[in-house]
Amino acid sequence: MDAALMRLVRQRANGRCEYCRLAQAASGVAFEIDHIIARHHRGRTVASNLADSCIYCNGHKGPNISGLDPATGKLTPLFHPRRHKWSHHSRYEGGTRIGRTAIGRTTVGATTPATKAARGSDALPSVGRQSKCCGSTCPISWNYAKY
Ligand SMILES: [Zn+2]
Repeated sequence: MDAALMRLVRQRANGRCEYCRLAQAASGVAFEIDHIIARHHRGRTVASNLADSCIYCNGHKGPNISGLDPATGKLTPLFHPRRHKWSHHSRYEGGTRIGRTAIGRTTVGATTPATKAARGSDALPSVGRQSKCCGSTCPISWNYAKY
């Protein structure tokens, strides 16, 4: 990917994961450029198909472009950062990300680490606490409250 395109995507995201709003500065691990429509589905490497993403969202979304809404079981497209407004589809309640719409609910499910059961909930770690999202070797320390 060319440096100018990567810079455009990073600047447009303003230092936040475009799926979960995690701040890059709080992540401790470099964000990745996500193909919203994966190359697997013939998604192109153009600004309108790219999003800055934390490693969790990018890793759990993978090449998926849809999922099953946990409330209805219906096939639903995932959140598209270029077409959808984040605050319309998602919100945080306390430290927990909540889907407000079918797209939001489906995307939360598709981008939330499968190990959330190990954390007991989808709640984000509190300030200064080491995340246990990836196990004891995880280098990530989320600090949403600070950002
Ligand atoms: Zn994220």
